[in-house]
Amino acid sequence: MDIKFEHKIFQFKTPSGTSRGILTEKQAWFIQIMENGKIGLGECSVIPGLSPDYESIEQYEKLLSKLRELASAINLTDFEGQKEYDLLTAIKEKTRIYSDFEKYPSLLFGFESAVLNWSAGKSELYFDTPFYQGEQKIPINGLVWMGSPDFMKNQMADKVELGFNCIKMKVGAINFESEIELLSSIRNAHPKDKMILRVDANGAFTKENVHERLTKLAQLDLHSIEQPIAPNQHESMADLCLENILPIALDEELIGIHSKEDKIKLLDNIKPQYIILKPSLHGGILGSKEWIELAKERNIDWWMTSALESNLGLACIAQFTSKFPIDKHHGLGTGSLYLNNTESRLKVESGEILFK
Ligand SMILES: [Mg+2]
Repeated sequence: MDIKFEHKIFQFKTPSGTSRGILTEKQAWFIQIMENGKIGLGECSVIPGLSPDYESIEQYEKLLSKLRELASAINLTDFEGQKEYDLLTAIKEKTRIYSDFEKYPSLLFGFESAVLNWSAGKSELYFDTPFYQGEQKIPINGLVWMGSPDFMKNQMADKVELGFNCIKMKVGAINFESEIELLSSIRNAHPKDKMILRVDANGAFTKENVHERLTKLAQLDLHSIEQPIAPNQHESMADLCLENILPIALDEELIGIHSKEDKIKLLDNIKPQYIILKPSLHGGILGSKEWIELAKERNIDWWMTSALESNLGLACIAQFTSKFPIDKHHGLGTGSLYLNNTESRLKVESGEILFK
């Protein structure tokens, strides 16, 4: 195959407060592969400070060159007749791409999405599901970005107005009492059966304050908390999951874990209530699928989340999500963030993402 890359910079409509500081722009590289007169597009999306495979533009472009070298030797027509997961699995078994790029999930995801798009032969098609055909919608959580209490309160009101019945708010960023107040105000206005509330601490709580904080949050009938304490404190995290003051979802904890054995070890050691999959951070498509299968075997629930991809990567993640039963809210609402996002049939309406 022929393969080329294009560096993209997406401008945020409003500077967005994340666990990695305030972001005004976001980098990505689009991969374009060509073979047999067909084109496939994919997105390698990185979040500096969070993506395990990104250090600098120069270092990342070196990895992209390495990927190009390896991928150019592959003839996709050798895999003709295989689609979707089978096609990716065949490439995994017969080439070095997956083993050489195991530590680089954003590159793997970009490559996988380009291959799927090449195979599907249609713009914005990766997995042909009822969701892609416009026959199914996926409920998503409305994300409240970090900022001043007023800014967060306004965003909450907007999400309710837009029809979201699941809201996710970051905690541990501003004063904890203000965060409790914000959550209480929304809970008082919307009971548990009408509004699912998720929170994400991005590892902000300490061993000393986590019990007290989880107890306070649990009084507000929350659905779950993501990553209450920072990753790599497995014993403390396992204790918190066992105590279950509030159901716990692992997110950053999954970064950097690649082999099936290590995934099993982590799930069996910590026994979380939920895991959150972001293909650009957690092993690409096949790597995330493996996490989901291992979680399911252990009665651990999960949901999918995008990680600031443009519409291109988001379309692939949403279609991948739609390969599983649509029975929960996912975190796929980041598509409307950018001024210069790619044209797309993806829309968010009344708290659901759909293809139109
Ligand atoms: Mg998170």
